[in-house]
Amino acid sequence: MKKKVIFIICFLHVAICYVIAQEKPKHEDTEFYSPVPNVVTPAKNNANPPSDAIILFDGKNLDQWVLTNDTTKPADWIVNKKIITVNKNRGNIQTRQSFTDYQLHLEWRIPENITGTGQLRGNSGLFLASIGKGDAGYELQILDSYNNSTYVNGQAGSIYKQFAPLVNANLPPGKWQTYDVAWAAPRFNDDGTLKTPARVTVFFNGVLIQNNIELKGATLYVGQPSYQKHGPSPIKLQAHGDKSEPISYRNIWIRPIN
Ligand code: MG
Repeated sequence: MKKKVIFIICFLHVAICYVIAQEKPKHEDTEFYSPVPNVVTPAKNNANPPSDAIILFDGKNLDQWVLTNDTTKPADWIVNKKIITVNKNRGNIQTRQSFTDYQLHLEWRIPENITGTGQLRGNSGLFLASIGKGDAGYELQILDSYNNSTYVNGQAGSIYKQFAPLVNANLPPGKWQTYDVAWAAPRFNDDGTLKTPARVTVFFNGVLIQNNIELKGATLYVGQPSYQKHGPSPIKLQAHGDKSEPISYRNIWIRPIN
């Protein structure tokens, strides 16, 4: 009888150890082999487009762009010496293509001889999604904020009238500056109500200035921002009505994110 009890105890011990061994996490449990990320060749200078980018301006022409207020017309801003200069008489321009979530790179330059003060000194803007004519959309402000005070949620790098940049990373007028943006578009329910707000991360001259912030809605000059249902949208550049010298752009590319 005693031998039988010992045998049963030993058997149970082995069985329990086996079960515990089966349940113990293994390193393989958290190692996945598919889907395999696409291979992308990084540029030597990371301002240059990676291999899978859509080139929105390559220095040659504005074929990828149209006038915002009449999208049947070509974007006739000035292209010279591989750069675009804002044509204030023609209004905003936007991409022919529409986008949802993306990574975007853009370079801009305030003229060295810029004049004006506050919001009237090299004002332009990158609309992360254009949702109508004029300035309808979500504006990442472009302005000379090197040594030019204005309301902080309207300086360069602000999400206009919503969020000031974390730091002021401006270079002086005459220097090329970079925006690198990760944009997650808002999502809407069928009834038009907001499902998830837009989010954005922005690097300005390589410095983090907007850290995955949640937008309050589309940009408004007067009044509180709010959301209105929209789908994929063009990217838009602003021809601001101030009288200062027009600013320039170059090297614009985008990587849609699925
Ligand atoms: Mg602006």
